[in-house]
Formats: sequence, C-alpha cells, structure tokens
Amino acid sequence: MAELVGSDNLQRIILGSGIPEMSPEGKIIFAKDALPDEINYEYVCTEKDHLSVQLTVKDKPKDPEQTEKVPEQTEKDSEQTENTSQHKTHSYGAFKTVKAPTALEEGTETRTCTVCGAAESRAVAKLKPTMELNATSIKLKTKQSTNKIKVSGLASGDEVASWNSSNPKVVTVNSNGKITAKSKKGKATITVTLKSGFSRDIKVNVQKNEVTCTKITLNKKSVTLKNGKSFTLKPTVQPITCIQKVTYSTSDSSVATVSSKGVIKAKKKGKVTITVKAGKKKVKCKVKVK
Ligand SMILES: [Zn+2]
Repeated sequence: MAELVGSDNLQRIILGSGIPEMSPEGKIIFAKDALPDEINYEYVCTEKDHLSVQLTVKDKPKDPEQTEKVPEQTEKDSEQTENTSQHKTHSYGAFKTVKAPTALEEGTETRTCTVCGAAESRAVAKLKPTMELNATSIKLKTKQSTNKIKVSGLASGDEVASWNSSNPKVVTVNSNGKITAKSKKGKATITVTLKSGFSRDIKVNVQKNEVTCTKITLNKKSVTLKNGKSFTLKPTVQPITCIQKVTYSTSDSSVATVSSKGVIKAKKKGKVTITVKAGKKKVKCKVKVK
C-alpha cells in the first residue's frame, strides 16, 4: 500500500478515495473524480518501487472564479507551496537571537517553522548609545592635569572614539582623556565622542587658585582593633580635581598611631580619635583598642 505523505486533510481525502493506480512509467494515477475540485495536487515518488508517495497541495481551496481571474497569483502560490513542501501557512516558533545587536551593528533573529523547518530572519535595531561620566563639570588650577574623568555605562560594542577640547588655549585633552589646564584662566568644554557617534560634554573651569576640598569621606567612621593590629583609612576627597594634601593625626599616640599614609596601629587598650584633613575640611574616625 502506498504511504501518503502530506497534510492530514489531504491524506484523509486520498485514503478515502482508495489506493491510486500506478501508470507504466511509475506515476500514480488518482481517480480525479474522487478529489474535491478545489484541490490541485502533485505527487512525487520518493522510493523506487513507488511505495511511498509525497503529495503537495498546490493551491489552497479558494474561490474558483478568483483563481481564473488571477492566474499569475496562482502560479506564484504554487511555487511558494512547492518550496515549503507540505503546507500553505508556516507554523513559526518564537524568534531567537542569532546575532545580538550592538551600538554599532544591527542584530539578527530567526524563527523556524515547526512543520517544515523553513527559517525566517529579521533585523534587530542597533542598541541605543549610552554614556555616564563621573563629572560633567570640573575646576582645575592653571597647569594642573587630571585623569580622573571616567567614562562608563557604554552600550555593548561601543567605545570612546575621541576627546576634544573647545578651547585648546585654555585646556587640552589627549586621546586617553587626560585633561590639562594651560597657564591662563578661562573656560573650555571637553567633548567625549563614542564610535556610535553619541557624545557628552564636561565643562572645565581653569582658575589661578588651587582647587579646594569641599568634602572628605572615609571607608570607616569607627573601627575596633586588637592590640598590635592595624587598619588603613582610605579617604575620598571631593571634588575629584582637588589635590590638596591629606593629613592624619591621632588624639593619643600611646593608644594608636596613624602614619602619613593613613595606617592606624593599635598600641594599647583604650580609645582615640583619628582626624583626617584636606585643606579646611576634616573628618574623624573613632578607634577602640581592645
Ligand atoms: Zn513550514
């Protein structure tokens, strides 16, 4: 018995009409009358002995008048159906990412027909460029340099393409983002431009006086140490371009000492206060020695 491969509907129709006959050339002859008029079909012998027959619906059932009127469309439809073999409408699964988009390039995603395996691709839009800066406005003393400007938060694939100064007579910037004030006061805008084309600005104010500390914060406001142990204070000074010297002092060096680098050493049981100073700002750390 011939094995019929095709849509369930068609199989039912063919099987219901009886087993087709073989022609001498090995083609299978159906009793045409047994098939509904609106279905055209073709078959392919997929095995030498013709025991397996592949059927393809050439046209979906449709208004016969419309078929007459638009023969080109019918031709197109039949081609499409042949390409996708057994069914008229693909049954696609969800789109899956083949290539993730970046800030510079579109991505690709594909979905596959769960019946015939036909794949369909579509482009995924480039990522929106983003950039964060740790400061968008800085002060510098004349001739002072800083490499404290940090760029972060870039979209995948993006990177810094250039740094540019609006006024190189006042401020210059190199390709690594090192900003240098020249010998006169004034203003300039540094522009950071990414490969995606996205850019952000940093306003620079060059002044004659040194940049003074506005705030100091410590990694710990209080610490308990065993006798003989040590702890290192790590102050953060604001603004980022402040380079005023940070100094440390202890209220009682017999209980705990502090070095010029902020290393506290416990000497004997008791309590002390370590004072950290930069310019006119100061902050305290309470130390208990056990
Ligand atoms: Zn399909």
